[in-house]
Formats: sequence, C-alpha cells, structure tokens
Amino acid sequence: MAGRLIVVSNRIPTGDPSGGLVVALHDALLARGGTWIGADPDPSEEGRDRLHDLGNVPYQKRAFRLSAAERANYYSGYANSVLWPVCHRRTDLVEIRSEYRADYLAVNLRLARLIAKELGPQDVIWVHDYHFLPLATMLRSLGVTNRIGFFLHIPFPNITDLDVLPRPEDFARWLSGYNLVGLQTRRDVARAFEMFRADPRAEFLRDGTVKFEENIVSVASFPIGIDSEQIEGIAARADTGPFGAADPRELIIGADRLDYSKGLPQKFEAFGRLLQGRIDPQARPTLLQIASPSRADVAAYQQITSELQAISGRINGRYSELDWQPLRFVHRSVDRERLIGLMRRAEVGLVTPLADGMNLVAKEFVAAQDPEDPGVLVLSRFAGAAEDMKGALLINPHDLDETAGAVELALAMPLAERKCRFEDCLQVVRDSRISVWTDRYLARLASCVPTLSLAPRASA
Ligand code: ADP
Repeated sequence: MAGRLIVVSNRIPTGDPSGGLVVALHDALLARGGTWIGADPDPSEEGRDRLHDLGNVPYQKRAFRLSAAERANYYSGYANSVLWPVCHRRTDLVEIRSEYRADYLAVNLRLARLIAKELGPQDVIWVHDYHFLPLATMLRSLGVTNRIGFFLHIPFPNITDLDVLPRPEDFARWLSGYNLVGLQTRRDVARAFEMFRADPRAEFLRDGTVKFEENIVSVASFPIGIDSEQIEGIAARADTGPFGAADPRELIIGADRLDYSKGLPQKFEAFGRLLQGRIDPQARPTLLQIASPSRADVAAYQQITSELQAISGRINGRYSELDWQPLRFVHRSVDRERLIGLMRRAEVGLVTPLADGMNLVAKEFVAAQDPEDPGVLVLSRFAGAAEDMKGALLINPHDLDETAGAVELALAMPLAERKCRFEDCLQVVRDSRISVWTDRYLARLASCVPTLSLAPRASA
C-alpha cells in the first residue's frame, strides 16, 4: 500500500502496547507507518476541535477528546447500552434515549471531519468496532473516496434484534460506507447477508459483493487470534503453583471481563450441579473465576455483579468444608503472566459465553497448556472460537447438566485423549495467530472494489 495506514479504535494504547490486538495493530503500523487514532484517556474537555498528539513512537498516536456528557451518551450510552446488548442478543437490556444516539452521531461526525482534514489521497483507514459504525458514511459525505475497512469484534446482530435500534435502517447503510466489513465468523457473515437480503436498498452482485445505493461493500470473516508464540513462551516459564499450601487438586479456571454476555451465572450454577452430583465425596474440584471489573457505571453491570456474589455465596455456603472453598470468585483483573500461569496449572478451562464475537480467553487457555500434560477446554458453542475449535468439549451454557457433565468428563479424561484434543485446538490457535489476521485483512482491503466517485448525499 502506497499511503499511510490509519487505524481508528476507541481504546488507544498508551505506553508499551499489551494485549493481542493492540500489539498486532502496533506491529502493522510499525511496518507500514501511519497513525493510530483513539479516544483520549485524558478527561480534559478542552480542545475537542482537534486531534492531540499522544507519545512519539515511530508512528503517530493521535487522540480525540470527549466531553463528560459525550462519554456518558456516546460511550456508556449508545455504544454500551444500545449496540452492545443488541449485538449480544440482550435486547431486554437496551436503554433507548435520544441523547445517546445524538451524541453517538455527533462524536462520529466530529471525528470524521478531523480525519478528513489530515487525509492523504492514498491513505487507507481501518476502523475497529461498534463505537464507529457510521464513520465511513460520514467520511463519504465529506468527499472521502479512500479505502475504508471496518472490523466488528463482537457478534453481528440477529436481524430481528436490529429492530430494537432507534432507527434500524441506519445499520445496513452505515456498513455500506465501508469497502470491506470484516466479521469474526462465517455465521456472522451469514447474518450480515441476511440483513442485506431483507433490505430493498441492497443488491447482491455476481462477485459476492453487495451494492447498496451508490456503494459497493465486501463482507468476509477474519477470525481473530492471539500471539500464540508469545503465550506459549510465557506459559513455559510461568509460575504454575501460585496457591501455596492450598493448591487444589482439580482446578477449573474461568477468566472473563465481568459482563452479562459471558454466561457467568450459568457457569456458577453448572458448577453447583457438578458438586451436587458428586459421587466421590473426596473429590474436591475448585472453580477459580477471575472476573475483571467492567463498565461499572452501567446499571446492567452492577446487577450482574450482585447476582454473581449471591450465587457464589449460596454455593460456597452449601458445599464448603473447613479446608476447601469450592468456588473462588475473584472480582479483579490479574497480571497477564500470572493469569497465563494459572491457565497452565488448571485441569479445565471453562468458557461459557451466551454470545461472544470470538473469545480470546479460549485461545489463550489452549496456548498456555503444557503439551505433555494438557488441560481440557470446555467451550460454549456460542463463542466465535467454537466455529473452528472442534477439539474442545463444546457445550450449550444454558444446559447446566450438559456443562456439568462436560467438566466431569474433562476432569476424568485420559492423557492420550487430552493430548489429541489439545493438538487439534493448538493448530486452530496457531493458524489464526494475530499477525496472520492483520495481514489477511489488509490484503483483502487492498483488493476490494474502490470507491470511485461520490454522489452528493443529503446527510450521513
Ligand atoms: P472481551 O474482549 O469481551 O473482554 P476476550 O476473551 O476476547 O473478551 O478478551 C479478553 C482479554 O482480557 C483476554 O486477553 C484475557 O486474557 C483478558 N482477561 C480476561 N479476564 C481477565 C482478568 N480477570 N484479568 C486479567 N486479564 C483478563
């Protein structure tokens, strides 16, 4: 690509990049040069009419600022109280307020103007996630014909759930402004096609692209991965005995952001079923659930926290012994190396989302295992990762007996079968590693039908 790469994501790394996606985008920008634009962690409300320089790495990091009201309405409001529940099939949790949508559009339009001002003719823009759905149509309305790609990290919504949006018809139109819409799985692509198929403004072309009014958009799946080599390396060196004298014999680990999409009440209840059905009273499985705090200013997140505290209290009250607490619910984030060490130490990784774009924890758990004595992944079939990870024990997290049975099976699984399943899963993790993902996406974007000219538009 001749021009610069311009990455837009709500979160922008400050200091050393950490975490799979952030590192991959950092590497892509190092290789190609360019700019990373994200929301300024500085809460200052001044200077919202320009981008601010953040740090001086070999590529530019620039930040847009938000007012306190915009943070509440654009970020906590429209992004996390409307789009997040709609995409995660929790339309019952959607909060509709006119100021949410108004500020979501206002922030995107301001950002579009700031980007358009600095854009070179060959620059390629790569927009990440649901915070910026309308950014491309807004850039197009300002006359931008550059290639613009989008990647949705979360599930593509069901067509019926889209009707819950304040203006459902916006969703398809917003996406049509991009040259390439990247989604996590083939099922996500199927749902996107269903949306376009039902829309009289869309027409399917022979090459599989969608013509939507004056735009042509490609839709494809790019299952995201992790830096598996790095995690395998950390795991091989990690301290795997952090429990001291209280080291449990049978450790089941869960690590999630504390989010209602992660199926944590179902996970706890299924573990309760497992304890209830124990035949051997000497068996003392421990579920260690590490849940990092998330979006605590949104009411639905406060509710799920209280619900989990209540369930874990009930289960521990019923089954604890003087020297054994079966469920350890740790409501905080832990250091990455320690988490990877715990994953390696665990006999079972229990991943139970009710809806999840990919679920990187599932891939991290696999990469963290000792190849000579691997643990078993029990994985919800609603995680994007389940589409390819056939070596995992796939479960329906709504079915508590099925989940409990799968954990029991995993705890008793002979080494030969564990190894076989692990090798299968590790192959999937390595094939989807994050560096390959970035290259595949950008190569596909470069080959997309370009936007040649723009018809004048009334509004974005
Ligand atoms: P999501 O993006 O919805 O949070 P993913 O599973 O795709 O879910 O990614 C979560 C990331 O956060 C993973 O890299 C995982 O290791 C990390 N993580 C999850 N829970 C914790 C925790 N309690 N402490 C530290 N890191 C965590």
